[in-house]
Amino acid sequence: MTDCIFCKIIAGDIPSSKVYEDDKIYAFKDIHPKAKVHLLVVPRKHIETLAHAKADDAELLSHMILSLPKIAREQGLESGFRTVLNTGAGGGQEVFHMHFHILGGGAMPFTV
Ligand code: C5P
Repeated sequence: MTDCIFCKIIAGDIPSSKVYEDDKIYAFKDIHPKAKVHLLVVPRKHIETLAHAKADDAELLSHMILSLPKIAREQGLESGFRTVLNTGAGGGQEVFHMHFHILGGGAMPFTV
């Protein structure tokens, strides 16, 4: 999608601090970190929100979730991390290319 900031990051048109990539996903450091370590994990495929994902995306979503611990560990979060997935404006989503947040490395900014 041409006007999507995360699609531009994945394409390399906007710089990012990449921490991981493979054929399905791309992970980078959040530019406004809310924790000592704050990463974003995005699918290469433009899916607007989790609510827009289809049954055909099941393998991709599964791959994303199963990749989170590996990506977190590689960034030093051996003792654990928090995962956040904001869905839609009502869920606090600001960038409409679905993404998991990985947060950790100290006191959590909030509790649930
Ligand atoms: O879940 P939500 O859509 O609110 O999160 C978007 C996140 O993308 C924010 O934490 C923001 O700091 C991050 N961002 C970024 N690089 C950009 C634009 C937004 O890391 N160029």
